Amino acid sequence: MSEGERFPLGVWMKQIAPRLPSKEQRERLQTLLERVERGDIEAEFDLDDAVQQLPSTAQDWLREKYQGYLQKQRGMELLPGQISILPASQRWVCQKGDCGEDEPVLQEGEEPPECPRHHRKMIRADRRTGDAG
Ligand SMILES: [Zn+2]
Repeated sequence: MSEGERFPLGVWMKQIAPRLPSKEQRERLQTLLERVERGDIEAEFDLDDAVQQLPSTAQDWLREKYQGYLQKQRGMELLPGQISILPASQRWVCQKGDCGEDEPVLQEGEEPPECPRHHRKMIRADRRTGDAG
């Protein structure tokens, strides 16, 4: 990892983009992410703006990822969940207690996302017992 590596905003955005409640927003964001992947500098600025349009839970979640990134830049390795801005009730986590994957709740009543590592439906963080799975 090189010094001054940029925060991979696009990577995190890509994880939640397919789950956005608004179809229009979903499509706009996916187009933007494709442009970023092609190295379009202007799209990167648009992506920063797009963050402001996201549900507040998604913004909090991204803020956590950014804090984690800053700590890493300082050479500090964080444990999952060490920085928490997003409340547990608004967070999806893997059923496996030792899995660090998480996603924000974007809309009440939404389908639980799948853990990208274990391919199992996630559960709300305030309902994880710690030893499930
Ligand atoms: Zn998992």
